[in-house]
This record gives sequence, C-alpha cells and structure tokens, in this order.
Amino acid sequence: MTSVPVHLFHSSRVQDYLEAVGAGAAAVAGHLERRGRPATGRGPREAARAVAAVDLDRPLGDGDRALAELSRLWLQDTVWFHEPAYAAHLNCPVAIPALQAEVLISAVNASLDTFDQSVGATFIERHLVDWTAGRVYGDSAPAADGIFTSGGTQSNLQGLLLARDHALAGGAEASRLRILASAEAHFSVQKAARLLGLGDAAVLPVGADAERRMDPVALSRRLARVADAGDVAMAVVATAGTTDFGAIDPLAEVAALARAHDAWLHVDAAYGGGLLASRTRRHLLAGIEHADSVTVDYHKTWFQPVSASALLVRNGATLRHVTWHADYLNPKDAAHPNQVDKSLQTTRRFDALKLWMTLRTMGADALGDWFDTVIELAAEVADHLETLPDVELAARPSLSTVVFRYRPDGLDDEAVDALNTRVREALYDSGRGMVAATKVDGRTFLKLTLLNPVATTEQLVGLVDLVREHGRALTRPVRAADLVGVAR
Ligand SMILES: *Cc1c(COP(=O)(O)O)cnc(C)c1O
Repeated sequence: MTSVPVHLFHSSRVQDYLEAVGAGAAAVAGHLERRGRPATGRGPREAARAVAAVDLDRPLGDGDRALAELSRLWLQDTVWFHEPAYAAHLNCPVAIPALQAEVLISAVNASLDTFDQSVGATFIERHLVDWTAGRVYGDSAPAADGIFTSGGTQSNLQGLLLARDHALAGGAEASRLRILASAEAHFSVQKAARLLGLGDAAVLPVGADAERRMDPVALSRRLARVADAGDVAMAVVATAGTTDFGAIDPLAEVAALARAHDAWLHVDAAYGGGLLASRTRRHLLAGIEHADSVTVDYHKTWFQPVSASALLVRNGATLRHVTWHADYLNPKDAAHPNQVDKSLQTTRRFDALKLWMTLRTMGADALGDWFDTVIELAAEVADHLETLPDVELAARPSLSTVVFRYRPDGLDDEAVDALNTRVREALYDSGRGMVAATKVDGRTFLKLTLLNPVATTEQLVGLVDLVREHGRALTRPVRAADLVGVAR
C-alpha cells in the first residue's frame, strides 16, 4: 500500500490534521492580547518588503516554521477587531461558534453548487435562507427564497441583475433602464450598473433629507421624470443602514412609490440587516417586507467571519434569471435539488454553516442584543461628543456609526480637512486606535463604526480623546497652510 503524504487530509492522517489545526488556532490565540491596541502601526512599505522577501519556491517543509514566519509577516501586525479602540470599518468581532464552523467548512470542503457535492449542507443553507426570509417577510411571501453570497456587493449585483432581467422580460429596452438610489447608497450599486452593462449614467441619485434618508418627494419627482423621458425605472434601491450614517430610508413610502411605477424594489440591508435579530429595534426595518430583493450581510451586524451574506427574494421564481443548465452539473431533468441554479457562483463555500452553528449554539437573540448594545453605545458616545467644544458631530447616529471631526478654533475648512486626515494617519501609526474617514458635503470627517459589544463608552471617549490629542499636537507646531501641503 502506498503511504499517504504527510500533508494530505486523509483518514490515516488524523493526527497531522488535529495538530495542524490546533497549532493554527494556537498561533491566533498567541497574538490575541495586544493591551488595548488594535494595530501596531506597521506601514505598507515595511509590510510589502517583508512579504516580498519570501521565496515561494523554497518551502519551509514544516508547519511550525511556516506559522512562525507568518507571525512576522502578518499576525504580529494584523488589525484586531475585538479591540475596543478599533472603530474604523464595518468589521465585527466574530462569534466563536462560527469559528468552529470554519474548521468544519474547510475540512469537509463541501461545495454548495449541487446536492451531490453537499448533501445535508444544501438543506442547511436552504433552512437558513427560509429562516432569514421569514424574518424579512413574515407570512407575506410564501414563495420567498434566496441564496448565500460572498458579500453585500455580490448580493446587490444579483438583486439588480434580477431586476434588470425582470424588466427586459417585460419588454423594456436595455438602453432605457434606470436605477434610482439615494446619493448615500453604497458604491456597489454603481458598480453593479456598470457590470450589468447599463452604464454609470443609468443610476440616478435621489436626494436625501436632513437625516440622510432618501426623500420620498425627491424619489417621486425622479420617477415622474424617468417616465416623462420615456425611460424605465428598472429598480429603486433603498438602503437600510447607509455605510456612513446608518440611515434607513423610509422603506414603506419608498416601496409604495416603487410599486406605483412598477419598479423592482431592492433593499440593501447589508448594514441594518442585523436589526432582523433585534428584540427591540426590528420595527426600524418596517416596510422591508415589500422588497422584491434584500441584501443581508451576516459578516457585518451578525458577527460572522467573512464571507457570509445572502440575497433574499420575495418570489423565488425570479431566481430563474441566473439559472443555466449544464449537462455535466445541473441538467434540466436533474433528480436532485441544485443551489447552483440560484447562484452567480458555481463552486461555493458552505458559509451558511457559520450562521447555523451560531444560531444553534447561542441563538439569534444574543446576536440581536449585541447589535442593540453597539447602537446604544453610539448614542452615548454622540452625547459625549456634543459636550466637546473642539469636536463637530455631523449628525445624531442612526445605527452604530458616529461621524465627527476635530475642529479647533481658528482654522479654515481646508485646514480642518487636512488636519483630520493627518490625525487619522497618526492614530494608525501609533497603533492605539483606528477610525475611518469620509466626506460630508465635501468636507473631511472621521467616523467611528461601532460593532464591538464589549467596548465601553469610556473606552470610546478615550479614543476620541486620542483623536483630540493628536489633533492638538499636529496643530501646535504646524500652521494651517503647511497642513494642507502635508495632506497632498
Ligand atoms: C458593506 C456594504 C455593502 C457591501 O458589502 P460587502 O459585503 O462589503 O461586499 C453594501 N451596502 C452597504 C450599505 C454596505 O454597508
């Protein structure tokens, strides 16, 4: 009998498997404690140099040595999302049951395209899709369905693809198709329009109100103008939780307008979708049940590791627009159910198992509570920011983001923009905190995105104090005019 190679996953290599996975987990655990620092401040130049020095044609021959090398190249300086002073993007600390699931997902290596590559996994995914659809639609959509995707970007693309093909099937002309989305919508809507061959100009921005929610009056006007021009409102995209402000468009009003104009309603709940698990804030999504398609990112507000997202549809039959039958995979007369019929992907990870293990181990209420906690945290941090003379709050938080900037007296807008950019960089360089940056009406602001349910108000006030300290330090020796130069 030939012996099984050491590194091949196999029933006779159980010991090697357990040791390797254990060592991997131990390596992660060994780097978890960083005394309150989410980063080490390693810059792209050093990071690139260290990686480039590795000769991939000279394997180390040993997993422990490979892990030791990886510590140096990555783990040692990686950004930790469980540190309270990490408040930059929509990255969440993750649920441990989902990490356990990751071990199973990659070892079994099922592919969710066909039943004969996945068996029970196909039905675990379907059960989760039905469960999530139940939370979106209640009893109002008995034919609801959906599919797990790689993220909100793919979910939005697929939702808009269904909308496009639905419009084309109804006799619309491709060149006339328009997508209406709030100016605050995620950029993946623009990208989808481009990928779908509709062109950048097919996306028409709709004005927002003071809370940065889509203004239904503006939407109504836009829809009327589209009709007057002889164009077709292929889809209205409502956002349930905008990336910057967490604003939730008025879903019921938007839905009524979309319906009146025969437009597909896609709700991008990549961020706000976590409210589906909330015991106290589910009402904020009222109206989502009117959507033809919905994006939910489990890897944001459901505390799941990347990737885990889904596209849900009110009417499962609309998924036929992505169906293609191949004799070698999913023939028309296949005896088994095939998830590939509903997906843009073919080979596809069993990401659904992460959510499954999370729900079966700890339940949805706990996830919803975590999201509720960070929403409350954002409100408390905003309360504090309002008391600070040198900080400008852009808006009251809607979900768990706080948009603000350091604004000392005596600097003009340009200088304040440059100063905030520098503060953010300096903060990363220090390793002591991470915040995001964005533009509000053309001006540079900083953003706290809060997804860590164990972060405290004091810790986040401390983070804002760090921002102010860096701001003061950067203002003192350098005059405003120089700062503008630095930023360029
Ligand atoms: C993050 C986000 C997306 C994109 O999701 P990915 O999972 O990053 O691809 C889409 N829409 C909104 C509102 C988002 O916040």
